[in-house]
Amino acid sequence: MNGPVRQERLPAAEVAEEVAPGILRIQIPILLPGLGHVNCYVLEDERGVALVDPGLPDPLSNADLVAKLAGAGIPAHRVHTVLVTHSHPDHFGGAGRLRAEHGSRVVAHREFRTPFDALPSDDLEALEAATDDLTDGDDPDDVPADLLESGHVNPRLARVLYGRGPVPVLPPRATPWGEEGFRPGEGELAAMRAWDDLSKRGLLHLAPDDRVDDGEVVRLGRRDWQVLHTPGHTGDHVCLLDPAEGILLSGDHVLPTITPHISGMTGSPDPLADFIAAVRRVAAVPGVATVLPAHGLPFTDLPGRVEEIVAHHTERLEELERIGEALGTATVREYARQLFRERSWGPLAESETYAHLEHLRLAGRMTAASGGDGRLTYTPVR
Ligand SMILES: [Zn+2]
Ligand SMILES: [Zn+2]
Repeated sequence: MNGPVRQERLPAAEVAEEVAPGILRIQIPILLPGLGHVNCYVLEDERGVALVDPGLPDPLSNADLVAKLAGAGIPAHRVHTVLVTHSHPDHFGGAGRLRAEHGSRVVAHREFRTPFDALPSDDLEALEAATDDLTDGDDPDDVPADLLESGHVNPRLARVLYGRGPVPVLPPRATPWGEEGFRPGEGELAAMRAWDDLSKRGLLHLAPDDRVDDGEVVRLGRRDWQVLHTPGHTGDHVCLLDPAEGILLSGDHVLPTITPHISGMTGSPDPLADFIAAVRRVAAVPGVATVLPAHGLPFTDLPGRVEEIVAHHTERLEELERIGEALGTATVREYARQLFRERSWGPLAESETYAHLEHLRLAGRMTAASGGDGRLTYTPVR
């Protein structure tokens, strides 16, 4: 696809920038599909600073965060609080390490649960072993090129660690629609071998110190922020609203040009309905003048952006019904492969497709049945 580069994809800025009175933004590089950086917001008060979403857990991301804080005159030991908007590693990843090194309190939603908390203990043990248990090997040339180019692992270290033997394959993860769920890939596991223990623990074991609920007020950076529980992208997503000055820290809930992934695995019967209700809810908040998203630039027209996002999902639902007309009865994977471009195929596309199909089923526009092999099939209602 040609055209303008979406702002969420832009490389991380080198220096902190004040994006609202008393609110600094630091950008930390990430390399995920469609994303070039994550925004970490810095809220200063008399005790030090609170960070909202401190980026990925790997040592290079942490070093980048600490260097950019220092560049803004803030030593990392002044970070007294880390608020995490939701349980994705590019948002919560840096929190555990800041707590371990500087005693920062980690704050997240009452239902906060990382993808690793959700794993059966056997799977978590396998994951720990895969990133920990190094055996002797002698083939350092096997390091995948994309891992070296990712910038998230020291190339020399990766060669040494990768050379210690093959990375074990993790057990498959079942999904409600009968396909395999997402699991970290070989390159990601190999990269984790090159991390120190603090980073690994920060990713695999993060329990918040304080759990907050919808409607609660948290005081950070000399402002009283109202917690808005905004499920859909994950079940535990929160936004923070400063009603006095009309500032919304929107996390991944409302982004300037891309629509957040809707997970079919939040545990809710209808994650898409949850999401649409939650975006409409923030759009209806009076007086929001500045939206500070977790990726991309600040923006002002929150209701306008929310209408675009809702329209996008309405189109996707209609598209799925058209796909169903053409396919007859089909699995979630078959729907996903029509709905998404090939480069996006996989567990995440299937999870979002499942969320949309379940929304249609609950609205009486699709029927679902078990295909016998454990896979669900969906058929449009004529
Ligand atoms: Zn996210
Ligand atoms: Zn994100």
